[in-house]
Amino acid sequence: MHEEDIFCDTLSSMHVRTLRTPEMEAKYQEMKDSGIMNNSCRLCDEDVTMTFTHWRLIPNRFPYDQVFEPHDMLIPIRHTADINEEERLELEEIKKSYINHHYRYIMEATHSTKSIPQHYHLHLVEIKKEEI
Ligand SMILES: [Zn+2]
Repeated sequence: MHEEDIFCDTLSSMHVRTLRTPEMEAKYQEMKDSGIMNNSCRLCDEDVTMTFTHWRLIPNRFPYDQVFEPHDMLIPIRHTADINEEERLELEEIKKSYINHHYRYIMEATHSTKSIPQHYHLHLVEIKKEEI
């Protein structure tokens, strides 16, 4: 058995709470069960909101919508698990020039919860406003 599969099994057997609403979680599980993630890279295929030199801003189709809105993702344009020095330097610039002004938090999933480990990605989120 693959090390990653063991992690996933451990997580699901612990009934870890999700940050998605039940409706969004159902959509996400449906997409995962369809096997679409095995064939192509969902991040490479996503519509692009904004392009930097080495990075792209894309919407997260399966946002953690219990708590966050908006929920976008920042990915290197290269399909890679690890970012290089040039990408790292530009990331620092993008944090200062853009991310700090538009989002509350930058989140990076650890190995156990990453759904797409093959393509490096950061989650950019703002806390959802209370519905009145
Ligand atoms: Zn990719």
